[in-house]
Amino acid sequence: MSHLHTGSCLCGAVKFELDGEFKKFFLCHCSRCRKTSGTAHCANLFAPGARLNWLSGEDKLSFYRLENTNFARTFCSVCGSNMPTDAKSRGLVVVPAGCLDTDVDLTPQAHIFMDSKGNWDTNSNSLPTFAAMPTS
Ligand SMILES: [Zn+2]
Ligand SMILES: [Zn+2]
Repeated sequence: MSHLHTGSCLCGAVKFELDGEFKKFFLCHCSRCRKTSGTAHCANLFAPGARLNWLSGEDKLSFYRLENTNFARTFCSVCGSNMPTDAKSRGLVVVPAGCLDTDVDLTPQAHIFMDSKGNWDTNSNSLPTFAAMPTS
């Protein structure tokens, strides 16, 4: 059975398809994810053994690895959107859930690195919700 997912960056330069199955879905609150996302946590899908195929914009991709760590980010150099990282040495593809244009058949399974979360990251489950930007 094939599991084909597609995604793209905000400016549309980078497009990809991923052939594989998502096995894990974590919301990571570590300080590295907070820095690179600018928000409370990353939402990362893990697809072991998946095949990542860049459909366009591969030349626009930038790659950053934090020195002496496994922490890496692939992102569009035009608009800064986080893109999948093909962690070949670990045999898996890590996909930021927000860059997908296809539905995901998993929901987040855990909040991880909660010991490093921001001090303001406390009550997101009890906040009021709005369909779009509130008007007042
Ligand atoms: Zn872009
Ligand atoms: Zn993290």
